[in-house]
Amino acid sequence: MKIVDDTRPVISKEKVFRLLGQKDKGVSSRLAKKIDKQIAGLEKMMRPKVLYTTKKIQKIEGSTLTLEGDIKLKSSKISKTLGKCDRITFFLATIGEQVDNVINTSLKEKKLSDAYIYDAIGSAAVEATVEDFQNRIDSKVKENDQRTTLRFSPGYCDWKINEQKKVFSVLENDLIDVDLNESYLMAPRKSVSGVFGIGSSKLVDKDETNPCRLCGMHTCVARRV
Ligand code: SF4
Repeated sequence: MKIVDDTRPVISKEKVFRLLGQKDKGVSSRLAKKIDKQIAGLEKMMRPKVLYTTKKIQKIEGSTLTLEGDIKLKSSKISKTLGKCDRITFFLATIGEQVDNVINTSLKEKKLSDAYIYDAIGSAAVEATVEDFQNRIDSKVKENDQRTTLRFSPGYCDWKINEQKKVFSVLENDLIDVDLNESYLMAPRKSVSGVFGIGSSKLVDKDETNPCRLCGMHTCVARRV
């Protein structure tokens, strides 16, 4: 089990616009300035951390992946995407509870637009944290001619949200102070858990194994094409 606490997430303003349902060109300069100011404020208060561990894949049968320690994950899309990988990394990332506090304070003070913007920035920040973390793993495994696959999180694609419990049973979440409640919600809220595979660069192709290419769910928020 390892912790990375020196990630340098770059919060994408374009991603924040999208999460707010805005197109880049349609954003007023007043709103753009407000978002810049809130990004700068949130960057000072967030404490990004990623906890992770890697397990060997023992077999993949149908939609079931069996890992060392008899851990079983059920998702046909993960099984297909990781079909040529030899191991899987479980991760849990958070940007800390200060961000939840500032969202809650804005709500209490009835500054709803501030709360809404902080919420979008927080989501972009935790995704950027995971992105930076995965890029580091990619650089590391590249030395052995390997690469990582696309990421999956419980509750997205065809991976059921209740498998969140399995992800937490593999990771020692206390190490980074992230809790999971009975409804599978994480606290702090701006936390993300999930998995990605690792395998030979010759066999693993992020585009070729992207399940979204052939998926008919065109309105899916997690779509990656
Ligand atoms: S579009 Fe992609 S992420 Fe969404 S359900 Fe289809 S395969 Fe899964």
